[in-house]
Amino acid sequence: MMKTVLVFLEQREGAIKQASIDTWNRVQELVAFRPGVTVSGILAGPASTLQLEGMLAGTGVIFHANDEAFRLYNPERYARLVAESMKRVDATSLFFADTVLSRDLAPRLSVRLQASLLSGCSFDNGRVDGAGCQRSVYSGAALASFAAERSLKIFTITSRPTRCTTIVGAQTSVVVLEPSDCTDADFFPMVRSITMHKGIRDVAEATIIVSGGRGMGSSGGFRLLEELALLLGGAVGASRPVVDEGWRPHAEQIGQTGKTVAPALYLACAISGAPQHLAAIGSAGTVVAINRDPHAPIFDVADYGIVGDVHLVLPKLIEELQDFLQKR
Ligand SMILES: Cc1cc2nc3c(=O)[nH]c(=O)nc-3n(C[C@H](O)[C@H](O)[C@H](O)COP(=O)(O)OP(=O)(O)OC[C@H]3O[C@@H](n4cnc5c(N)ncnc54)[C@H](O)[C@@H]3O)c2cc1C
Repeated sequence: MMKTVLVFLEQREGAIKQASIDTWNRVQELVAFRPGVTVSGILAGPASTLQLEGMLAGTGVIFHANDEAFRLYNPERYARLVAESMKRVDATSLFFADTVLSRDLAPRLSVRLQASLLSGCSFDNGRVDGAGCQRSVYSGAALASFAAERSLKIFTITSRPTRCTTIVGAQTSVVVLEPSDCTDADFFPMVRSITMHKGIRDVAEATIIVSGGRGMGSSGGFRLLEELALLLGGAVGASRPVVDEGWRPHAEQIGQTGKTVAPALYLACAISGAPQHLAAIGSAGTVVAINRDPHAPIFDVADYGIVGDVHLVLPKLIEELQDFLQKR
């Protein structure tokens, strides 16, 4: 019998989140060898689906609630839309990227739909068997399997697609949904606007992260990282002691108790490479480490390593980069 799984595609300010695109592709990868499973998507809020061209793997239909009412996240409005979409396609499983929004929405839906909720799934064994999921535990030292009891299942996924996911030949179509006839009064309380902290880029979405650890010495030490991140078009990240010290905001913390990231380039400056930090950068493409201790564990996972003092290496790196960019 044909089974359908639904993937939630999240937008912010009209841009579809890379983590959601990765989730769609990861789900396509997981169901690729399961005949009779189709993938559908639900996108809430105004967004250009042209952005998705060449980015989505596999085949499937995306239902787009291209409605101003969904521009900002409203828990009740979103929950109702996704629950209706589950019914529309008769889906047995619902997948989210592991984001701040999904941590709010997925539990609401699990109550509403009486569905099992499995969060933070990695599916590291490459299988989605319909019954449960795998989750990395003990800072990545072990993989635990969780079983779902209910027939309807909701998963939030942390893992990203493998690099060989085929995009070429992908065929997805978009169906725009009729605007809902509900009024704001049906969805009290309403969010009217969201103000982003100036200058902070979300590390969870960044393709380049320049990250600093305790060895940066002070909040002032991060000025070098800000300068480098600006040159590279990346975001600044931090280890936990840096956040505990109040040098950087918690939104930038990477690790077990921070965010999981998957940039193409991760530059770790004066970060030792503790398991709780490494657990969150497993999906990074290229890892470059700068550390004055040649035995720092970060070098075990780094593709390129520089043994040296960040206060000497970083200004040189910035200078070289400025030179390079000027000559281009
Ligand atoms: C339950 C739990 C959850 C945790 N969650 C997280 C988490 O989410 N994220 C996280 O990061 N950690 C987390 N930790 C903490 C983690 O165990 C480490 O303590 C932390 O990652 C270390 O941060 P660090 O590498 O910045 O500091 P340190 O371990 O102090 O390392 C500093 C590094 O900088 C180098 N250094 C110093 N000065 C210089 C210099 N001038 N130039 C070059 N190199 C220099 C040193 O050689 C050293 O390697 C968690 C711990 C626990 C128990």
